[in-house]
Amino acid sequence: MPHRLRYRRLEGRVAIVTGAGAGLGRAHALALAEHGAKVVVNDLGGSTDGTGQGSAAADQVVSQILAAGGEAVAEYSSVADPGSAARIVDAAISAWGRLDILVNNAGVLRDRTIPNLTDEDIETVLDVHLKGSFSVSRAAYRVMKPAGFGRIILTASGAGFFGAAGQANYSAAKGGIAGLSRALAVEGARYGITSNCLAPLAQTRLTGDAFGPLGAALQPELISPLVVFLASPTTTVTGEVFSAGGGRFARIFTAYTPGVLLNAGAGPTTADEIEAHLTEILDVDGYTVPASSAEEVMTLVGQLAGHSGPA
Ligand code: NAD
Repeated sequence: MPHRLRYRRLEGRVAIVTGAGAGLGRAHALALAEHGAKVVVNDLGGSTDGTGQGSAAADQVVSQILAAGGEAVAEYSSVADPGSAARIVDAAISAWGRLDILVNNAGVLRDRTIPNLTDEDIETVLDVHLKGSFSVSRAAYRVMKPAGFGRIILTASGAGFFGAAGQANYSAAKGGIAGLSRALAVEGARYGITSNCLAPLAQTRLTGDAFGPLGAALQPELISPLVVFLASPTTTVTGEVFSAGGGRFARIFTAYTPGVLLNAGAGPTTADEIEAHLTEILDVDGYTVPASSAEEVMTLVGQLAGHSGPA
């Protein structure tokens, strides 16, 4: 990896990676460390369904970073536990006195079809992914805001945008993470805080053999350069979602279509009128990718102002 040694983007920076004991988190932690970041390697060390715990996973990654001449500390809290967010952020502050980068990555699965999901399946997945990302991001934001700098990266999933059978709990959590990231980006803009999401595709213990023979081409390390890029002080892109896997990087975006104004100023339209205009409503030609929900409201204000009277 000589090119990385020549081009260390994150010298002097401090990062937290949650769920960094295996899979994608491990690859991200190693890549950030190779670029000079000091890394809090958080991992509960449990199984893919969120049960169990252990220190070995985080310890191994810390040892690997130290052996390569980097700096890292292990942290074993569950991101889903009350009080853990403060402990995880404190680990960075007490070791190095600052926090620049947060990669929310910890994840578990409880896949079942909708009628078979138990309350516990729903809560566990929402707690680890959505509440965990929310509370660790909030704790990090509280440190980043007064410092006037922060790079937050969250891990969503194609399931959160496009849906996946047998993953309603996971899809809901990942869609929530995407909304959280947008809010962090909009609110953090004035404080030098960026927030972006990954929607990764990688062969890990979480995905098992789901990708079949393609799995061999989907190594987690192929995604980590994007994390290094998004974590870099020179990177200002924010509020975006990047699909990444197998060396392919693409944008996932949320947009609205121009739509149609029906019966404006003259009371409610009818279901029949909506049905009659469905093709226009769904037509993506001329779509807008807004920077915030306020921008969508302004579009509507403009459309209503441009409308000369009842249709
Ligand atoms: P993985 O199982 O290899 O790694 C997840 C790590 O998170 C494990 O080391 C685990 O111990 C840790 N973890 C789990 N619960 C935790 C908790 N409560 N607190 C702290 N650590 C915890 O899985 P992965 O595929 O590397 O997944 C990483 C992230 O990427 C997850 O958020 C996952 O949903 C997401 N993701 C992965 C894929 C993929 O194709 N692999 C696709 C979409 C999204």
